Amino acid sequence: MLDAVTVSEAAPGGANDDFYLVSDRWALVLDGVTRYPDDGCQHTVPWFVQRLGLHLGYGLATAPHKTLPDLLADAIGRTAGEHGPGCDLSNPLTPASTVAIVRLADDRIEWLVLGDAAVAWLWTDGTVEAVTDDRADQLGDAPVVVADVPRYDPVFVATVRNRPGGFWVAAADRDAAYESLTGSVPRTQVSQVGLLSDGVTRLVQRYGWSWRDVFDQANTHGPRHLIEAVRRAESTDPDPARWCGKRHDDATAVIARVVV
Ligand SMILES: [Zn+2]
Repeated sequence: MLDAVTVSEAAPGGANDDFYLVSDRWALVLDGVTRYPDDGCQHTVPWFVQRLGLHLGYGLATAPHKTLPDLLADAIGRTAGEHGPGCDLSNPLTPASTVAIVRLADDRIEWLVLGDAAVAWLWTDGTVEAVTDDRADQLGDAPVVVADVPRYDPVFVATVRNRPGGFWVAAADRDAAYESLTGSVPRTQVSQVGLLSDGVTRLVQRYGWSWRDVFDQANTHGPRHLIEAVRRAESTDPDPARWCGKRHDDATAVIARVVV
């Protein structure tokens, strides 16, 4: 079984666009993409990620025989069906989310990652491995615009999001689920598994932590320590403008002990 501790916290002053669910056999973390203007949707990002997450959790709980991409595709389809006629789901900037899932399956732990969420394993030998989907960071000379924060130009994003050769997120198109990174690891070789939104993984990607530090600090001080550490690092960053994206981001961590 999975024995999880969790933390999820909005960036200071905002709503939380992250969402997570855990059970004793699976866990998921979603990170809603910061809203673009003119996205054709009448709903909020939390509305979208909560529905996507609940549909995904329902599938994980009730259809253990289905593959993780199939379950994600179903959740995308069900969520799309709830937008209603006032939303234009063909808009390429329609609300979207990154996804991380793990599930126990016999002697394996299956995983799925779509977008810049991460799944990490603390192996029983003490080493750590992590997977994230960085296709959005590999778009070459992608134009960055600086409005309130530096981020990719929405006109450009509209041409590469959920398109071959671009990058993939869970939005309104079921097919994106089949572009996820997936795999499985032997259950008996995993001590702990972590699911992390990019608001937490920036400890590793920006601020010099190792993946092992993430597990050690969460185990020693509790998962909230990860959020406190990332807020401290962000607030003392001498040059936050060097990073694409917001100075503070919603941050979610699920750290689960694998009890064989
Ligand atoms: Zn909508």
